[in-house]
Amino acid sequence: MNLNEIYTEVILEQSRNKRNKRDLDNPTVKELGHNPSCGDEITLQLKVDNGKIEDASYTGTGCAISQASTSIMVDRIKDLSYEEALKLANDFIAMVKGEVKDEKTLEELGDAAIFENIQNLPARVKCAVLPWYTLKEIIEKK
Ligand SMILES: [Zn+2]
Repeated sequence: MNLNEIYTEVILEQSRNKRNKRDLDNPTVKELGHNPSCGDEITLQLKVDNGKIEDASYTGTGCAISQASTSIMVDRIKDLSYEEALKLANDFIAMVKGEVKDEKTLEELGDAAIFENIQNLPARVKCAVLPWYTLKEIIEKK
């Protein structure tokens, strides 16, 4: 898969996933993520019960990569515990650094694994990791 194909797939994914871009009713936590190098700004919203992410959404603006990465992450983290979500976030960050090679980890990342080769576009890495760092922020300061 070359980079153009990734980019196209990302944009398609984003356009399909507008349903994740909304305000939650009474979110448990909201966290702003900002990537000044591109201008991406997202607010991640989670509804958490007993340490489990019952619902998730985001609002904000940014490039197609940040929006698509956020939407894919929102889909992936629903019904996970904070511990499971944190592991995924760490795996995603390791993956974009090229540190994840095993299929099992990539499988667990689900659709988020389409960003595996974003490391070849260094300027866009921060766009792809923005939602995952925002999620880590929430979990680690809990
Ligand atoms: Zn961006």
